[in-house]
Amino acid sequence: MDTRALFGMNLPELTEMMSELGQKPYRARQVFEALYKQRVTGVEEMTTLSVALRSELVQAGWSVELPEMVQTATSVDGTERYLMRMADGETVETVWMPDGDGGERGDGSEAAVEEASETETAEEAVAGVKSDGGYWSRRGEGRARSNFGTLAENGFRRATICISSQVGCAVNCQFCLTAKLGIRRNLTAGEIAGQVAAVLNRHNIQIGKDRINLVFMGMGEPFLNYDSFMKSVMLLVEGIGIPESRMTVSTSGILPGIEAFAKETVRPKLALSLNASNDVVRERIMPITRKWDIAALLEAVQKIPLRTREWVTFEYVLLGGVNDQPEHAREVLDLLAGMRAKVNLIVWNPGPGIDYVQPKPGDVAVFQKMLIDGGIATYIRRPRGRDIYAACGQLKRTVAEPELVVIGAAAI
Ligand code: SAH
Ligand code: SF4
Repeated sequence: MDTRALFGMNLPELTEMMSELGQKPYRARQVFEALYKQRVTGVEEMTTLSVALRSELVQAGWSVELPEMVQTATSVDGTERYLMRMADGETVETVWMPDGDGGERGDGSEAAVEEASETETAEEAVAGVKSDGGYWSRRGEGRARSNFGTLAENGFRRATICISSQVGCAVNCQFCLTAKLGIRRNLTAGEIAGQVAAVLNRHNIQIGKDRINLVFMGMGEPFLNYDSFMKSVMLLVEGIGIPESRMTVSTSGILPGIEAFAKETVRPKLALSLNASNDVVRERIMPITRKWDIAALLEAVQKIPLRTREWVTFEYVLLGGVNDQPEHAREVLDLLAGMRAKVNLIVWNPGPGIDYVQPKPGDVAVFQKMLIDGGIATYIRRPRGRDIYAACGQLKRTVAEPELVVIGAAAI
């Protein structure tokens, strides 16, 4: 008997399913609450339903079907990386970062205001970059450790969960380990939101009490799986109860996706992986630029109606000697002039078989200072969990898989 996944269904779908079983609509609401508010892991835990109805659901082949955590790795900085197995055996990675990654600072959101008031001012955060001669402030690192796995002094936990949207990725960015997998398939909305539920359950998180930010920055390109991504957002907002102001989706620049996103009423914040200051460099490191160039992407981004205190984030992976020089910083300033933009600099995280070098700390500092002096709020994302391959661009399933389908950007 095939199992049918309940997790991932929205209220109208559950209502229809219940009506097919001859049940009243309020039963659908009860299942919805059990799945997303109580985050049950099996039909037998849906105690608001009668025993008879529960067994009828099971008989009909229904099950909750949350992704299963099959491996975990824990970093010295408290970050955890999970290998999540879906019902068909495909796996993706999900990352838990206690205390965030610093990227939420200064983005004008609710999360940023809280972050700044609890920790340090934006200026301090920026100044922190050089305080220990490395890429980021040690203060952040210490907090991450002390906050891990325990309740903070004032009784809540704060963390960022990084979720995957596809098994692999088709976009083929030259600096990214996920690209090496090629694309195997899209995740369903249930599989995307299910990663969040599984991680929340692991850490016994109480939504409303603990502060959870979500970033759609794991494996895959969310805008090439647009409908499932947006459906997962609705489940996370209306079901699980995480406000969309605490979510950020990152895209490599899928123009039709950005255009559709601009029309959504309930949507996360946007981060665009700019990663280069001109099309020549960008084409080299992100071949998809041949399809949609920087000018087209920026034009589309500017059409997104921003909410109060909302900024668009531009991610910029610094690759030593490739895009990290002062002339590049000047070009970035020209590109972003007049936009409500902030920049998140990401020091490139190395991976096997990828032929780039990390930028020199001095070059990172100069790059950041030039952008700040040019009037753009610029932050450095703390690399989290680098030792366990959980940092940006390092996600790649660690189990062996035969026959990976590699599709380059040209095939999109
Ligand atoms: N596919 C989406 C989201 C996932 S990647 C996107 O590309 O935007 C999330 C971020 O990690 C992107 O900004 C990407 O440019 C960055 N990234 C990819 N590989 C990286 C690496 N090896 N080191 C640092 N950042 C990397
Ligand atoms: Fe895909 Fe993003 Fe990696 Fe590019 S950076 S290959 S879009 S996951």
